[in-house]
Amino acid sequence: MLNTSSVHTLAGERTGKEPIIAAGGICVMSNPEPVHRFFDLFIMGDIETTIEPFMEAYRDLRGAKRDEIIDKMSGFEWVYNPKQLNVSYNDGGTLRSFVPHDFNVKISRHKKKELGTSAIMTDKTEFANMFLVEGTRGCPSRCPFCLLGNLYDYICETIDPSVTESPDIGILGGGVSFYPGIVELAKRMKESGKNIHLPSMRIDEVPLELISLMKDDVKTLTFGIEAATERLRRFIGKPFTDEELFEKINAILDVKPFNLKLYFMLGLYGETQDDIEAIPELTKKIKHIMVKRGAKKGFVGSITVHASPFVPKPFTPFQWLSMDDTDNLKKKIGGLKAAFGKIDNTYFTHESVKFSFLQGVFARGDRKVNDIVLRLAEGVGFSRVINESPVNLNFYTLRERNEKELFPWDFIKGNIGKERLFKRLQGALTHLG
Ligand code: SF4
Repeated sequence: MLNTSSVHTLAGERTGKEPIIAAGGICVMSNPEPVHRFFDLFIMGDIETTIEPFMEAYRDLRGAKRDEIIDKMSGFEWVYNPKQLNVSYNDGGTLRSFVPHDFNVKISRHKKKELGTSAIMTDKTEFANMFLVEGTRGCPSRCPFCLLGNLYDYICETIDPSVTESPDIGILGGGVSFYPGIVELAKRMKESGKNIHLPSMRIDEVPLELISLMKDDVKTLTFGIEAATERLRRFIGKPFTDEELFEKINAILDVKPFNLKLYFMLGLYGETQDDIEAIPELTKKIKHIMVKRGAKKGFVGSITVHASPFVPKPFTPFQWLSMDDTDNLKKKIGGLKAAFGKIDNTYFTHESVKFSFLQGVFARGDRKVNDIVLRLAEGVGFSRVINESPVNLNFYTLRERNEKELFPWDFIKGNIGKERLFKRLQGALTHLG
């Protein structure tokens, strides 16, 4: 984007008349270091609390020199100017210190209930003409692998169905299954003639009454099961038993023979071959329920299983853990493809191992991975970039960190302290046995 706009890609090369390039959002809020050379400033916080003071300050500085504007805008405690921070490294490549030592940036939080909604309605987008409401931000479940659940406080929007004339309202957010009054809201929507569309939900939390209300609007329900064995589910903070899962699916399919889309993670820390083989086994049992329920109603839905490699994220209890090796992940995916090929009316899809590896590098990378971004943006092929990288990228993915390691994002003050995250990791690890 910068290239096509004739703006220098590197912030350090931009001159007087070039725009100030600022970034925000959950990815850079959790770790801006892998892209620190491309941005003049980072806005570390919710847009509701930051954009107004940021733009006001910018307007007040109109006419000033570019460098002076950037310096003054860096005065907000939630603005990160990467030029103000230096880092040093230990011989092994881990971070030794931040310079200045006490440098920090605080994430600015929006505490009120009003969240985001669609501003423009058009048929030229993915969710054509659907009015989107950010129903929840954050998630009270705080699963130890989930960035959204750990980086944000949980807040819920008060949704008024009459806010839009669109017949379709899509509610966004990770914690929608926990939305208090979701059933009442769905009822009000139905009464006012709206169709309700919901995101992937926690199967153990979603009320059956909600499923009944949605039954005429949706054909497919999506659930994040994440792990196929009870041991791994306890570890990742979704401790429902197989029995509870089957009971809930039975009840859901009793409402209507929906198609199911089920998400799983692969390569979780502590995962064994048994955990992998359990994915098609569990799916077969769900399929069995589906056939039994569907036979009575004359329709049997399909199951799509989608597997994504586990990518450890900053600001989560799992930030100390290693990611699985790409060769292992490919083998596991190959095994699952073969196993699912033998189960009727069931589809298997998966996230790209290559892109998951890159996600792993950028999620917990430091300043040394900026060049990877640059080369990929220049169109150099993935394999060449990896092979020619002077930095061993497995350092960011395969390595288990020790408790006291200084992380590239530790200068950012989130809402859960590092000690507490580590304690939660210890708690989770006890479930692996
Ligand atoms: S339930 Fe989903 S959104 Fe909530 S913390 Fe767990 S993974 Fe994240």
